[in-house]
Amino acid sequence: MKALPTARKTLPELYSRRHECCGCTACVFECPKKAISMEVDEEGFLYPVIDAIRCIGCGRCLKICTFKLRIKTAIDN
Ligand code: SF4
Ligand code: SF4
Repeated sequence: MKALPTARKTLPELYSRRHECCGCTACVFECPKKAISMEVDEEGFLYPVIDAIRCIGCGRCLKICTFKLRIKTAIDN
């Protein structure tokens, strides 16, 4: 059977460590494809999770995340 071509899509990384996300949900409301949902972690805190099928890789969720921007600015200065 012939293998189907695989389309590689880079999903945005909303946070790599938990302190990079405050759970504000701004990214959820910014996403034009409704690809982000908030899910509860094992400690009961909400974090955004991206649906890879719905995501089109537009990057709007990363741009709206001022919390991440604030952390980066604090580290750079
Ligand atoms: S906008 Fe940033 S801080 Fe807010 S929930 Fe999304 S990733 Fe977390
Ligand atoms: S990259 Fe665009 S489509 Fe994908 S989760 Fe972020 S805002 Fe939604």
